[in-house]
Amino acid sequence: MPERNELTLKHFMSGLKRRNPGETEFHQAVEEVATYLIPYVAKYPKYHTAQILERMTEPDRIIIFRVCWEDDQGNVRVNRGYRVQFNNAIGPYKGGLRFHPSVNLSILKFLGFEQIFKNSLTTLPIGAGKGGADFNPKGKSDREVMRFCQAFMTELSKHIGESTDVPAGDIGVGAREISFMFGQYKRLKNEFTGTLTGKGLEFGGSKIRKEATGFGCIYFMQEMLKHQPDDLQGKSCTISGSGNVAQYAALKLIQLGAKVITMSDSSGFVHDPDGINEEKLNFIIDLKTVKRQSLAEYAKHYKLDFHKDQRPWSVPCQLAFPCATQNELNEQEAKALLHNGCIGVAEGANMPTTIGAIQAFQNAKILFAPGKASNAGGVAVSGLEMTQNSIRMSWSNEELDKRLRDIMIDIHQKCVDHGSEKDYIDYVKGANVAGFTKVADAMLAYGVL
Ligand code: NDP
Repeated sequence: MPERNELTLKHFMSGLKRRNPGETEFHQAVEEVATYLIPYVAKYPKYHTAQILERMTEPDRIIIFRVCWEDDQGNVRVNRGYRVQFNNAIGPYKGGLRFHPSVNLSILKFLGFEQIFKNSLTTLPIGAGKGGADFNPKGKSDREVMRFCQAFMTELSKHIGESTDVPAGDIGVGAREISFMFGQYKRLKNEFTGTLTGKGLEFGGSKIRKEATGFGCIYFMQEMLKHQPDDLQGKSCTISGSGNVAQYAALKLIQLGAKVITMSDSSGFVHDPDGINEEKLNFIIDLKTVKRQSLAEYAKHYKLDFHKDQRPWSVPCQLAFPCATQNELNEQEAKALLHNGCIGVAEGANMPTTIGAIQAFQNAKILFAPGKASNAGGVAVSGLEMTQNSIRMSWSNEELDKRLRDIMIDIHQKCVDHGSEKDYIDYVKGANVAGFTKVADAMLAYGVL
């Protein structure tokens, strides 16, 4: 057993696992970060003495509640709602809400923990949280989704506020759900404040918010390539997912001259060797956000092969963008990508790449951007939505796109500053160390809390 003042990864992780049994996604997210931060903390004893890593891995509080609503047949339905308020050292809790049947505490704690570093990297004054419910919006009518969102917000409204906790969207929570929840919050509180982000443009939403995560991810890849130096022109790209992040990552790649050859959803992937152009992408956006159907319909319409229940990583490409969900790219798939000549991967989703797959990419010394850096554009523009709401102004597309781009360039630079090795830039190390110091220093300044 090591002495208390001798911090090792093994000892740290065994304590974390004992305190959070069975929470495998949370263990995975902490291990990825702690692998880099434990040697860093060892160099700066002030963090170790104050037990900053132990404090940072324990959420400030977790709220769990029953959500009761009625379906269209008049049946009473019960779901479980959550909000993990992880860390508010540098600003109000901020992070998305996820509605998906797989939602549990482990997933929300991993997402909330990642958010600490991501939000810090944006340089904006935003803390970290995450929430959601095990509710499945798929197959529900708009009225059912509305009743669920109103019931969910009736409880959540007691715990959030523009200076306390500002939720946004995530998987299963898009413009429709945010609108229903914001409407209910406004009704309950009798106030019009920017307590949710991702709102409609008519009621306080920010331009570019819908595009921000996907666009930001591509801006980040552009910076990594520029550093080589290389560029996106003509590069073949595989994307997983066809939701919010994937749609706008695809659009920016197309606009910048790259070729998008796959997209996917939970039913499988479509391979379009000619490339998905803007017209085809509009078909996909309509299919996924309006008709809410499977990508198989896209394959049918354009007479392409649909690979049912498979992921796109066996398709040869130069760049890969996992933009669907956690742990959707494993070590074997990473090896297939490398074998087929892939030179860069940027995560649009949160933790889509397993630890084994990250190691495979790093051993091969290809470009690899972790989500906490490459998908930070979404929360960054959410932070800018909060600012616009506070000053009761709205900025133009051009202004916001420029700010988003500048933030992604700045995050890239921080990763280079903190992650440069002899002949390789370890972007995972760079993002973890750069994200850590600002939050850790704020926590130190507050004393023992
Ligand atoms: P959406 O709900 O808009 O889209 C999710 C996409 O992923 C859909 O294509 C969905 O398929 C697919 N998907 C979801 N679960 C699975 C699964 N278990 N297996 C295979 N495919 C799956 O979500 P977002 O685009 O907003 O989020 C995608 C990822 O990006 C998540 O990891 C999220 O945390 C992360 N992220 C999102 C941000 C944002 O601003 N929205 C910000 C930063 C990160 P189907 O349509 O069949 O359900």
